[in-house]
Amino acid sequence: MSETSIGSLVAHLPASDQTVPALNPATGKKIFDLPQLSAAQVRDAITDARIAQHDWAHTPVTERASLLKELHKLLIADETKLMDLLQLETAKSRAHAFEETVGAIASASYYAKIATKALTRKPTKAGIPFLTKTYVDHAPLGVVGVITPWNYPLALTMLDVLPALVAGNAVVQKADNQTALTVLFARHLAVEAGIPAELWTVVTGDGEIVGNAITDNVDYVAFTGSTATGRKVAARAAERLIGCSLELGGKNPMIVLESANVKRAAEIAIAGAFGSAGQLCVSIERVFVPNRMKQEFLEEIAKRTNSLKVGRSSDFSMDIGSLGGYNQLQRVMGYVDDAVATGATVVAGGKQLTELGPYFYAPTVVTNVNPNARMYAQEVFGPVIDVEGYEDLDAAITMANDTDYGLNASVVGNEREALRVAEKLNAGSVNINEGFRASFASMESPMGGTKASGQGRRNGIGGILRFTEAKSIGIAHGLIKIPTRAKHYEKMAPLMRLMVKLLK
Ligand code: NAD
Repeated sequence: MSETSIGSLVAHLPASDQTVPALNPATGKKIFDLPQLSAAQVRDAITDARIAQHDWAHTPVTERASLLKELHKLLIADETKLMDLLQLETAKSRAHAFEETVGAIASASYYAKIATKALTRKPTKAGIPFLTKTYVDHAPLGVVGVITPWNYPLALTMLDVLPALVAGNAVVQKADNQTALTVLFARHLAVEAGIPAELWTVVTGDGEIVGNAITDNVDYVAFTGSTATGRKVAARAAERLIGCSLELGGKNPMIVLESANVKRAAEIAIAGAFGSAGQLCVSIERVFVPNRMKQEFLEEIAKRTNSLKVGRSSDFSMDIGSLGGYNQLQRVMGYVDDAVATGATVVAGGKQLTELGPYFYAPTVVTNVNPNARMYAQEVFGPVIDVEGYEDLDAAITMANDTDYGLNASVVGNEREALRVAEKLNAGSVNINEGFRASFASMESPMGGTKASGQGRRNGIGGILRFTEAKSIGIAHGLIKIPTRAKHYEKMAPLMRLMVKLLK
């Protein structure tokens, strides 16, 4: 990074004697020391944000939206720097960093475009026609806490922070320790675009200390991360009666139909499973294939998986990068070892690639995973795909739904039949002849999960409105008075009865 040095980005954070080293997962080397804030520092940041939000709430929405348009331009201009930072902190491949950056840029223009329509006062149907009229306003909530994970720091920041800001809120965001620079740089660009600096504060530190201080003091929490942490955030938010959205984990199935082309299905499965080395909430982790196609499919997917280029590169020459660090490597190896110990067969990969760096792991295909294996229904969150056979489609649908999660699902084959299957899958999104990109890339399509994958949806108009309080305004015209005394009701009763009848 040239003019925007790491030091100048980190300078945004309140100072702290406590630091943790932020590491580059591709090399294991330290990038810089990241301050770890206390609960008191987070509370102070929220108090300051609350003061700044007063003026912002009264800034016309058109003006707020125009700053997002400006940000959109700056994101485009700094696309390369954003991808460099993403790769530095996550070690994902250039292609996956590009995909994430493009998504983030699209979100800025989308929210700039829809904000005015979403937030402008709207007339609603009056309850007492001719006597009253009604409107609905969408008032900002105040200070929104955004808590983001390490794996998609840029896209997930933009998808929550921008709609919260444009709705008139201030934001205090807890960036994950591993990927704070990317978040700080995105914020730096927002300030350059003209968004008042005090409106978006980034804080870093221990998950529980900083996370609790956020949930205990803000007016709404937009949380993205694991289901285990999401439950804690939800319980704490419920105690305070504040709203929260929870974007959590997934165990995302793909059903390959009899009508599918085997080669194409294998290609789609690979693209759906190995994005960001499988460290993506909507990644495909299980594939169900008709028994008669299973062997051919396994051979095809193994061949394609073995041909993927894994490594570190700042150009588009590598298909897959590294895992995100030591914990991720232990997690993925633990799941694969457990599956093998309980009877699964590794068809491709299944090993660490130490020659490439400390945390590289080969994209892996397994089959015959025992229902007792941890991987059967739990989220691996790594480059591992489980292929299983099915005899009839109903059985495949039952297996696909047989998990606590319900984030994303995929169906490959004839579109009409796939649409019928989609209706039976219990997931927040279903992608047909695609793993996740078709729905994920649409800013208009709500994104979120059922069951243990979370609550609430981001994207679309609802993606903005969740950061507002709906306020109904009712006005009596004064032309005909609303009854106030019993005798008035008596007089008006026939007219009111007629009206109710006519309005049905
Ligand atoms: P995590 O739950 O460990 O951490 C997420 C964030 O929460 C981090 O910033 C962490 O510091 C913070 N945190 C930790 N303890 C907290 C607490 N008690 N209160 C508040 N915040 C706390 O998750 P992770 O390992 O960073 O991310 C991976 C998980 O996130 C996977 O399960 C993945 O599927 C999920 N995820 C979901 C989506 C989605 O949109 N549904 C997107 C990305 C990742």
